[in-house]
Amino acid sequence: MTRSVPVATIRGTAIRLHWTFILFLGALLTVVSITKGPIPAISLSALVVLMFVCVLLHEFGHITMARAFGISTPEVILLPIGGLAKLKRIPNDPEQELAIAIAGPVVNFALFTILVLVLGRWPDWGTIPEFGQGQINLVEQLAIFNLIVGLFNLLPAFPMDGGRILRALLGFILPHSKATRIATRVGQAMAVAMATAGLMGGNIILTGIGLFIFFAAGSEAQLDAVRNAMGGVSVGQVMVTGQPVLAMSDPMMDAADAILHTDYEELPVLNPDGSLAGFVLRAELLEAVSRHGLEATVREATREDIPLVSIHAQAAKAADLLERGAPAVGVVDRVGSFLGLVTWRNLLDVLAIRGAVARHERADARRHLGNKCD
Ligand code: ZN
Repeated sequence: MTRSVPVATIRGTAIRLHWTFILFLGALLTVVSITKGPIPAISLSALVVLMFVCVLLHEFGHITMARAFGISTPEVILLPIGGLAKLKRIPNDPEQELAIAIAGPVVNFALFTILVLVLGRWPDWGTIPEFGQGQINLVEQLAIFNLIVGLFNLLPAFPMDGGRILRALLGFILPHSKATRIATRVGQAMAVAMATAGLMGGNIILTGIGLFIFFAAGSEAQLDAVRNAMGGVSVGQVMVTGQPVLAMSDPMMDAADAILHTDYEELPVLNPDGSLAGFVLRAELLEAVSRHGLEATVREATREDIPLVSIHAQAAKAADLLERGAPAVGVVDRVGSFLGLVTWRNLLDVLAIRGAVARHERADARRHLGNKCD
């Protein structure tokens, strides 16, 4: 999810194209120019680019509304299935979440209205199968596209806007975590229904979207559970310590040895002053060895793009950094010396333990209650 190319920055938000989006556009251009010739290929690509401008405007609906609540959006990523605005934080306040979620589809409905006015008539839905073939009015195609995108995003399934709208509405009467759980269940039920309908009707795209929503809803619920469980917990309370430590100039053999004799997935590589230079990841070590050999230095296997947090920071901050694609987060003290690390796996462990403790406490409370009744 992290491989993307920045194309522009608008008011502090970097617009990035995900590699699958570039691949998708490239494949589209190639296939259509081979089967139909270069002119239809160019006109189809132009349509797709304009469609994605609409998707981007939808995302900027969210971004502008979020900014009104003081939430910045460092980046927005364009995927073949749509856009993804990465807000600095998801508001816990249902009113704010509702306003931010609804702002995206509202942009599409506004665009639809404007395009219909420009067109001067109601669009002809029968033209959908002929989209992108050059015969249909461009304004008409974009109008229909915007209405579909607006309505589709209102489906009550995470990570679609409708899922957030549902959670926000439930949040007015229920605690946030319960609202998330219900919204996730509804979303997953919808996703299963979509995937099944797709399978039965032979519509592979619908099945794909259903599967995507199903897993996205699960990970959204997991992220939310981690964020909730980490409330009031500091990084120092959840970090992992005690890993063997490497230096950039150590032979690769040392890294291989450390990986072989321990269970750690990440090994810290330190600078001479004790600050973190990066991590050697178990998953990437083999690749580095096969490319550079065991005689190379640890430097060749070190991932240097590791975010750092203070030991006093909130654990939820580490969760956000991990969610944004970091393989691990380094924990440092006031002067920047390395102390330990936080991984997603380790946050899930903390979550599991807290869940077990809570279950034990509930069972205990029930027992006490039972004793009183006796
Ligand atoms: Zn949206």
